[in-house]
Amino acid sequence: MLEVNGVAAGYGRFGVLSDVSFSVSEGTFMGIVGRNGVGKTTLLKAIAGPVKVSSGAIRLRGESTGSLDPSQSAKRGVSLVLDRKGIFRSLTVRENLALAHRLSAGRTQRWSMTSVFEMFPRLSERADAPGGGLSGGEQQMLAIGRALLCQPDLLLLDEPTEGLAPLIVHELVATLNRLRAEGLTAIVVDQRLETVFDTCGEVLVMSRGSIAASGAADDLRRRGDLLQEHLGV
Ligand code: ADP
Repeated sequence: MLEVNGVAAGYGRFGVLSDVSFSVSEGTFMGIVGRNGVGKTTLLKAIAGPVKVSSGAIRLRGESTGSLDPSQSAKRGVSLVLDRKGIFRSLTVRENLALAHRLSAGRTQRWSMTSVFEMFPRLSERADAPGGGLSGGEQQMLAIGRALLCQPDLLLLDEPTEGLAPLIVHELVATLNRLRAEGLTAIVVDQRLETVFDTCGEVLVMSRGSIAASGAADDLRRRGDLLQEHLGV
């Protein structure tokens, strides 16, 4: 589904990523962990488009991607959920979802407003509430619901459980596992390691803009030495 090959990228002359290579197979979830500032978000942005790749290549289903704006990348089948951004505070939950759905014209429709409400019953209860009045957990659900209504081939989630109460984290992890079972392909970045280890088959450990280690989640979660070195836990 996704191939990242020798990618370098950054902001202007400030290089962040160097020689990043990995691939994600269709129907799998890839996790990315690493200390603050190592380039996880930059990598997601390089895949989704807003950060320009300075060398190397990123291919989605064999087609080169990169340097796209969010609506172009949604059309190509990549949805990036970043800091719950993109929610219109004055529009209702239903209106927010409908707007996202419009971006998916021409793509195979796997998710509908009904299936999103079924996946997140809390959102259905708040369907007529303004986006700005939602709790952190509800905003995260809305952000993911919006991303799904763009009908992505590849969903990129940046820190989906940041700042959420433990019970909501638990619900969100269950929902992500359900999406994985349904065949979605995703990349999950999270400071909370359990979120990544509990939802992803494979995990990349990033350090200073590069991939320091990678492997099966079940193996990596037992590598105390590695987690201590690269994550300080
Ligand atoms: P992470 O997601 O792992 O915390 P980021 O990808 O957000 O790391 O950041 C990697 C580096 O890029 C950091 O040094 C950060 O300060 C820098 N950076 C992030 N966004 C920008 C930006 N818009 N302009 C310039 N530098 C940035």
